[in-house]
Amino acid sequence: MRILVTGGAGFLGSHLCERLLNEGNDVICLDNLFTGSKDNIIHLMDNHRFELIRHDIVEPILLEVDRIYNLACPASPVHYQYNPVKTVKTSVMGMINMLGMAKRVKARILQASTSEVYGDPQVHPQKEEYWGNVNPIGIRSCYDEGKRVAETLMMDYHRQNKVDIRIIRIFNTYGPRMAENDGRVVSNFMLQALKNEDITVFGEGRQTRSFCYVSDLIDGMIRMMENEQDFIGPVNLGNPVENTILEFAEKIITITGSKSKIIYKPLPQDDPKQRRPDITLAQEKLGWQPSIDLETGLKATADYFAARCNRG
Ligand code: NAD
Ligand code: UDP
Repeated sequence: MRILVTGGAGFLGSHLCERLLNEGNDVICLDNLFTGSKDNIIHLMDNHRFELIRHDIVEPILLEVDRIYNLACPASPVHYQYNPVKTVKTSVMGMINMLGMAKRVKARILQASTSEVYGDPQVHPQKEEYWGNVNPIGIRSCYDEGKRVAETLMMDYHRQNKVDIRIIRIFNTYGPRMAENDGRVVSNFMLQALKNEDITVFGEGRQTRSFCYVSDLIDGMIRMMENEQDFIGPVNLGNPVENTILEFAEKIITITGSKSKIIYKPLPQDDPKQRRPDITLAQEKLGWQPSIDLETGLKATADYFAARCNRG
């Protein structure tokens, strides 16, 4: 198949492009290189079935493809809050452009939605049927509400124009090729630990997250795209093993053998207090569940960041 991956030079997108190429597909990676980088895909460049197009999905584009994975959107709070208006445009206008393409060429389209559609959840763990608790006017809203509108657009193009859609809600995912400067907890703690610097826990570290290793997530994403049961989602994809951020900091110190000390910084506004996916639907409909435990995944991630640090 000929497959378009928007945001293909980013963390998740680069792993997805690699998997799709290994499975024998032609892959077009479309990216404006805002948070992604050529470094992430340099090893794919000499494959004649791989193509990079530098383009912003806010602008229309004409391509002929069989599948569209729409991942283009900055994902870390530091990056999506850098230019919040642009973040909304990417999620909304980008989604309309990609859905227009899907409609025109009759491609199946998968949207990388997020656990952030649940906001600061009052239901725990989060099931797909939960409508969420999102602040519409806060500093995270450009991302959360943008992704919620993108889901709405997916459903409306499906109902109105019979576009073949799939929606996944990704929970915190980590692994090699996360950007070093993206301010997310995994990259921050890893780099701090490897350099024996203070580990910056926000708040008291009692907020929880559930971390999924990248290869598990990509496996679930492809299963969802290729499921032929007309199961359109939304479906949660994530690892249900939940940790407080303080526990997480301690694990990273142990795994890296670091001398770092933990320090506390103010909790950012609207930081969700708890987050854990209910993955019953993914298990039932896709036969999917994560297989990489946190220790194994964190060791692989630490090796990646250590190599980057040594390179300078
Ligand atoms: P990332 O920032 O590494 O990747 C996003 C990619 O999109 C980058 O390569 C960036 O340059 C590109 N991009 C951004 N705006 C664009 C635009 N207007 N036009 C073209 N390209 C653009 O982030 P990631 O972690 O790989 O996330 C990928 C997708 O998965 C995002 O849509 C994100 O919202 C979603 N997601 C990720 C996570 C996670 O934990 N990693 C969790 C939930 C949802
Ligand atoms: N966090 C932290 N220290 C950091 C970076 C993040 O304690 O240096 C916390 C952050 O407040 C949040 C959690 O880690 O509670 C996950 O943050 P991240 O930005 O990775 O993802 P998100 O909040 O979008 O789930």
